[in-house]
Amino acid sequence: MQRIDAPSLKSYTTFGIDVPVRAILVATSVADVVQHVHTARSAPQPWRVLGGGSNILPTRPLDITLLRMGIGGVAIVDRGPDWVDVAVGAGVGWHDFVTWAVEHGYGGVENLALIPGTVGAAPMQNIGAYGVEQERCFRSCTVVDTATGEERTMDKAECRFGYRESIFKREASGCYVITGVTYRLRTEPVIDMSYADVRQQLVADGCTEPDIADVYRAVVTVRRRKLPDPAILGNAGSFFKNPVVDTAVAAALRERFPDVPCFEQADGRVKLPAAWLIDRRGWKGRRMGGAAVHANQALVLVNVDHATGADVMALADAIVADVADTYGIVLEREVNIWD
Ligand code: FAD
Ligand code: NAP
Repeated sequence: MQRIDAPSLKSYTTFGIDVPVRAILVATSVADVVQHVHTARSAPQPWRVLGGGSNILPTRPLDITLLRMGIGGVAIVDRGPDWVDVAVGAGVGWHDFVTWAVEHGYGGVENLALIPGTVGAAPMQNIGAYGVEQERCFRSCTVVDTATGEERTMDKAECRFGYRESIFKREASGCYVITGVTYRLRTEPVIDMSYADVRQQLVADGCTEPDIADVYRAVVTVRRRKLPDPAILGNAGSFFKNPVVDTAVAAALRERFPDVPCFEQADGRVKLPAAWLIDRRGWKGRRMGGAAVHANQALVLVNVDHATGADVMALADAIVADVADTYGIVLEREVNIWD
């Protein structure tokens, strides 16, 4: 396993926060992961898994080792009348996998184009965008148990996916290293154009009967236009989750704020866009220390000038308090805080 001693996390996370860690080990096989778990058990030392670092905020120097996912490989492992099952290594870039799928004419993940990070992290928060979540295509994942070093397969039910949620983020946090994921992709894809931005871009592109490649291109165009590029402006995407509330809560809010957008969920509850709640309070562009709310996207906190994790947390806490005071809704963080 490749070992990098005392690196700064600055170039390993998209927030670009400059904190040191003890070491980074790069696992390129399942055997590397198993070996690491056994070594860490025999000489106990704190460690965590690192993917592409696009959903992490480190808040202080961390005297820990990071196991970075470098397991590659994309392979068709089964076929049916209108589907293929594709096994993907945890270290494969998510967008690279989506691009591979679209290039081969396999549908299901095209709305998830350009999401940063690795395939191994995708089940963690059940990544989603433009009306599609990875669970739509998820079949199973292979994991290594961090307590025993044993390998096993987990099916979809066991992963307990929810809205930006899974067992890996909650009950089983830190219990497994995901080493690979198998997705079932469609050879006769169904297009999802439920989001206005995608529909409008397809119209602008002159696509009257879009295929998955058209949707992929539209999503890439919209995302490049709307979202800050972490290579230029450090960020970890949406800092907060959209709150999902009971209908009574949504109705009461609508009484006070008739223009609040409400999206009814399959379970009857109502999703409120956190960006709207924050934006309406005038947070866009506001700065605390080296951190700021992005000028065009109120959900994204950005590193404008050598921000520390504490700067970002102070800004996030001020937003949470203001939103709670104004609307009576407590925003939950989506980004993983490493403290
Ligand atoms: P990391 O940030 O490295 O890790 C995240 C967490 O998962 C950590 O706790 C880590 O320990 C754990 N982890 C990582 N890999 C594994 C593994 N193999 N096994 C076990 N645990 C693991 N998210 C969305 O859902 N939708 C979006 O549209 C979206 N857009 C984004 C846009 C931008 C510009 C950015 C910066 C982020 C965006 N995100 C989005 C968030 C982020 O890209 C996803 O959460 C992504 O899945 C994180 O992957 P990663 O490899 O970078 O994980
Ligand atoms: P958008 O399309 O402007 O939509 C604003 C908000 O309204 C989003 O929160 C979205 O919820 C919701 N929404 C819009 N149309 C909807 C519909 N037809 N049905 C249900 N909900 C709807 O959002 P955006 O900021 O430009 O982001 C585009 C997509 O990329 C979104 O899906 C967003 O989640 C995803 N994204 C995620 C991250 C991240 O880090 N998690 C970062 C950037 C973008 P949802 O968020 O639930 O979709």
